[in-house]
Amino acid sequence: MRYVSTRGQAPSVGFIDAILSGLAPDGGLYVPETWPTLTKDEIAAFAGQPYHAVATEILSRFVGNEIARDTLADMCAEAYATFSHSAVVPLKQIAPQGFIAELFHGPSLAFKDVAMQLLARLSDHVLGEQKRTQTILCATSGDTGGAAVEAFRGRANTRIVVMFPDGRISEVQRRFMTTADEGNVACVAVAGDFDDCQAILKTALQDASLKQAVGLAAVNSINFARIVAQCVYYFTTAVALGAPHRSISFAVPSGNFGDGFAGYVAKRMGLPIDKIVVATNSNDILARAFEEGRYVRGVTTATQSPAMDIQSASNFERLYFECARRDGLETARAFAAFAETGIIDIPPQAYAAMRETFVGVSVSEGETARTIVSTLRETGELIDPHTAVGVAGMRRAPGLTGPVVVLSTAHPAKFPDTVAAATGETPTMPRTAAHLAGKTERYDRLPADADAIKAYVRAFAEGHAPA
Ligand SMILES: *Cc1c(COP(=O)(O)O)cnc(C)c1O
Repeated sequence: MRYVSTRGQAPSVGFIDAILSGLAPDGGLYVPETWPTLTKDEIAAFAGQPYHAVATEILSRFVGNEIARDTLADMCAEAYATFSHSAVVPLKQIAPQGFIAELFHGPSLAFKDVAMQLLARLSDHVLGEQKRTQTILCATSGDTGGAAVEAFRGRANTRIVVMFPDGRISEVQRRFMTTADEGNVACVAVAGDFDDCQAILKTALQDASLKQAVGLAAVNSINFARIVAQCVYYFTTAVALGAPHRSISFAVPSGNFGDGFAGYVAKRMGLPIDKIVVATNSNDILARAFEEGRYVRGVTTATQSPAMDIQSASNFERLYFECARRDGLETARAFAAFAETGIIDIPPQAYAAMRETFVGVSVSEGETARTIVSTLRETGELIDPHTAVGVAGMRRAPGLTGPVVVLSTAHPAKFPDTVAAATGETPTMPRTAAHLAGKTERYDRLPADADAIKAYVRAFAEGHAPA
């Protein structure tokens, strides 16, 4: 399997290069040259299979012959053994035609674990084969850092440095990062906000000498391995509800659009998906794009669902490329213009292609809180604010027929204050995470200064040979 850039100007690469290199050299994102497809019988055969077995089958279609099948199967088994539920992604019914898929049973209680647990094993394995090491630098507004630390702690060929905005994440979120005692993990509280952390990450990644010296890499959601890992639960949940013999719709709480795009990939692979509802909070660039045909950057505002406070959804470029009939030059033109003007007028043919699958719904803060309350009243389930955005999207999207699966992206105990403010009930921390409260934290404080962070990363990489 070869991978091409959405901007059409970079040479094609294999799976391993695509997942280790982040952006393509022409600034585009990698996508497979052709979409692998599964027959109806192959999809039907997923029924009753363990989650890791379905993951192995789907991953193998994208990896090609670059990683041995047995090795891949071992990695999938190990990655999903870290989940505390034996179904990995269990389904719960919340309405006659409504279901939630709980993606939050991984070590950091958020759906990013599903992809990160696998990505860490894939990349560390490949580095070992190539006798290389790398240093991951991660900027987090809360959830990604915890998932990345949980996935990379103790890996043999990888060090990880996580930056978070000092005082602006919850104690639970901080403890998921700072209580890891492995020598290959370092955490930095940056005296600034998330945008400062992200700007520092960008500056560091552009520093060729640092990149060379410490093998600097990122784990953001443009990594195609994360997308593939996220396709798997579309298959397992749809098959549990009767696919491929009937079609299923999904409602996806969205920010960077990695999760929503993974649903599109599953559809292209042959899974009968009817609609994908892209549900956003008031940072609704995506919902507006699907409803109005214009992709227009807004001003980011803080909401109760902070993991979705994003106004430029990286993975939208992949969908644009597909819907613009894989025209790399057109995609390059549109996104270069977007960087300048913050606007893309989606051409009519591409917009029509998007509308075949996608529906956008923007959910206000009040509606999010009311949805947490009504879901508790109607079903007895406490849901987190991100999931609530998805449930509201399902309820309000027009024209849905048949079963709808809402992707539940975080455990309510990760956002206890918001849930308690809406319902008066404080969600209980699961047993697997409760021990964090008593553990010693380890982190350094640094100014929001790229040079200071770069020096820190260099010293850490020199001082700490990976585990
Ligand atoms: C990252 C995240 C999302 C958004 O997913 P995207 O793939 O960025 O669209 C939603 N909910 C939670 C809890 C998240 O951590």
